[in-house]
Amino acid sequence: MEYNIVIGLETHAELNTDTKLFCGCSTSFGSEPNTQTCPICLGLPGVLPVINRKAFDHTLKTALALNCEINDFVNFDRKNYYYPDLPKNYQISQNHFNVGNNGSVDIIVKGEKKRIGINNVHLEEDAGKLVHPEASDAGHSLIDFNRAGVPLVEIVTNPDLRSIDDVQGYMHTLRNILQYINVSDCKMQEGSLRFEASISLCRKGAKVFGNRVEIKNLNSMKAVMKVLAYEISRQKELLDKGAQIVMETRLWDEVDGVSRRMRTKEEAHDYRYFPEPDLVPILVDKKSIDRIRETIPELSAMRRQRFTSEYLISDYEAGILTESKPLADYFEECVKLTIVSPKELSNWIINDVLRVLNEKKSHIQDFTISPKMLVDLIEMKSEIGGSIAKEVFSEMSNTGKDASSIVREKNLTPLSNAEELNFIISKIIEDNPKAIEDYGKGKKSALSFLVGQTMKITKGKANPKILIDIFREKLENNL
Ligand SMILES: [Zn+2]
Repeated sequence: MEYNIVIGLETHAELNTDTKLFCGCSTSFGSEPNTQTCPICLGLPGVLPVINRKAFDHTLKTALALNCEINDFVNFDRKNYYYPDLPKNYQISQNHFNVGNNGSVDIIVKGEKKRIGINNVHLEEDAGKLVHPEASDAGHSLIDFNRAGVPLVEIVTNPDLRSIDDVQGYMHTLRNILQYINVSDCKMQEGSLRFEASISLCRKGAKVFGNRVEIKNLNSMKAVMKVLAYEISRQKELLDKGAQIVMETRLWDEVDGVSRRMRTKEEAHDYRYFPEPDLVPILVDKKSIDRIRETIPELSAMRRQRFTSEYLISDYEAGILTESKPLADYFEECVKLTIVSPKELSNWIINDVLRVLNEKKSHIQDFTISPKMLVDLIEMKSEIGGSIAKEVFSEMSNTGKDASSIVREKNLTPLSNAEELNFIISKIIEDNPKAIEDYGKGKKSALSFLVGQTMKITKGKANPKILIDIFREKLENNL
């Protein structure tokens, strides 16, 4: 049978603030367990939370970048549940008065533009982290509260995603926006970006959606795609058999490649949300909105369009260059520094710079070659020739030295001294009478051979075009 697929996605992104949402503890990743805690984030009695201004501004910025309506009255709620990593037994979140509602994100799927609705954008605190010892008979688990209280922005879509391709397009676009507006580092390997998906299938033409299944704790885009593919085939199989889909929450088992039931709807939590009495509501005025809106840079979709029209590069190239803001900035910095065509700069960045970054598993922000250094090298290219330029580039990326020092140190200056070249060429002609004879008989390949011999002796430092001219002249005169 044919089914329509309906998917909604919730995304949690850790905001890149220095301190936690309601206390002054550091948010840096990878410290010794429980070294970044205080009575507030440990939920000890009698403490009071104080809101982190930057975290709120980042959430507002996210909501604006996702085209949300901003609420002028924003309040926090307590989401009550018990879990060992949640010392207060409630999480401070937002349920009734979010920062933003009714937004949208445009994604491109298979060349077609599609608009995904954003239900809401809100701010909440992260929980701690349970650490389970590897030995299965350890009989205990450990808790690290360093993450407890780290600010999270949660972005909830409407159920507008209709395929795994849609989901992939949405996740990439969202991550790209969050990185462009610089509110989160989005490092999935450090848990900075996490997803929850809900999915249901209904028969083609049906008026109501099917029962939906929620999948929690997905720590990578790959896991999201895998679990959704699995769920689509699992639910299809059940529906084909005439069975009902149970409304439930499931977990993805990465090792076995299956999703498993966590709890059914009957066992679901009633979080008993109520307004957080320890925090005053936040009134968001137009001035604050304007102030934050001004900090939002040109986003990648716009920038991609501008790159094609302003720099006359292909949409494909513009897409690669604007994939990350630092890379797009790097390219534009190069453009500003030189009269070399943007197209040539784009070729160098896409073919050479990205290849090296890929090999080194590094980012453009940490790249040893600055825009100025790259431009200097490309400007030298006509003088030193293409193959030497590539050699110098690879040396620059390894050592961080600039092009002219490398050319000098390695004695790569091209042979432009006519006298010296003439001397070498005369010697080559003397040493290769057979080739000269062949050339005289009209064998043109003899010329390539002679040029090749010269390149060998000069270690590639002679300009082949000039060589051919000199050879021709000498040989014609000899005949
Ligand atoms: Zn703290």
